Amino acid sequence: ESTINKIAAGEVVERPASVVKELIDNSIDANATDIRVEIRGSGTKSIIIVDNGTGMSHKDASLAFQKHATSKINSIEDLNSVLTLGFRGEALASIASVAKVEMVTRQEKDISGTKVVVDNSGLRSISSAGSHAGTSISVEDLFYTTPARRKYLKSMRTELAHITDVVTRHAISYPDISFTLISDGKVIMRSPSSHDLLDSIIHLYGADVARSLIPLEFESDLVSLSGYISKPQLTRSGNDLQAFFINGRSISSKLIGNAVRLGYYTLLPKGRYPAAFLKFTIDPIHVDVNVHPTKREVRLSHEKEIELAIITAVEQALASTNL
Ligand code: ADP
Ligand code: MG
Repeated sequence: ESTINKIAAGEVVERPASVVKELIDNSIDANATDIRVEIRGSGTKSIIIVDNGTGMSHKDASLAFQKHATSKINSIEDLNSVLTLGFRGEALASIASVAKVEMVTRQEKDISGTKVVVDNSGLRSISSAGSHAGTSISVEDLFYTTPARRKYLKSMRTELAHITDVVTRHAISYPDISFTLISDGKVIMRSPSSHDLLDSIIHLYGADVARSLIPLEFESDLVSLSGYISKPQLTRSGNDLQAFFINGRSISSKLIGNAVRLGYYTLLPKGRYPAAFLKFTIDPIHVDVNVHPTKREVRLSHEKEIELAIITAVEQALASTNL
């Protein structure tokens, strides 16, 4: 059992940022409106996530760390219509197999909460505990059971950059949720709740970036698309100013990135990337999120139509403005 968990964990929990991602996903699935991420040692010493979401009952809390325990899928048919970020019931089990985990959770209606302590040898304790409504999870000594993996972590600075990227992407994707990221006691990112993508962009990337953006809206039978792209003057040598979301999920997709660049034709200097913050609404039937356990890479059906929609949307946005 514990061997199986470790193998699975190898895929879900690649680095501290993967833990942060999975835990934030869970908080979002639990309808949290305020999510606080506090890390030490770039997440290798500790990661603490506090949310004000629905919390868990005593029973659900005791099951949450079992492999394939999920409250989000009841039938195979559900798989075709998943709208929650998680659904495999793997994340908590995987994280607990490579770290020391403590969770305290309470549903609003319950008088007392539940505290669960887990490590790689399994459940250590379950007890009643006082708690705010919501859930807090602390993950300590990541990879203490797998020193080899620990050794392969990049520099502390790189790991912190990955975590910042994860929190930033979530903040951009869920502007109405407030996010705080604290590293070694310092607030390094705060994104107050806002109902506007542009507001979030200003907060996260600064007014200079926001000023060179052009709004983009596009609608076809298959896809509806909205967001911002940059004027060709604002380009980067990498795609760090790009974020794509399908049905609220932050995803990576070569297809989408390439299509955006194609929309610029010759306006884009060689080897440069525009900024692009794009939200896609596509019938979940056409989106396969079940490709990889980390669920960032998605597979789309109707690739050609979607590519064409993006190119057209970018062309129209660029044509609508004075460059
Ligand atoms: P999944 O998200 O795929 O269902 P996880 O292992 O990530 O699986 O979580 C297991 C279960 O624990 C979830 O289905 C959910 O019921 C519960 N859970 C986890 N995190 C939270 C949270 N922050 N708030 C409320 N419930 C949670
Ligand atoms: Mg999950």
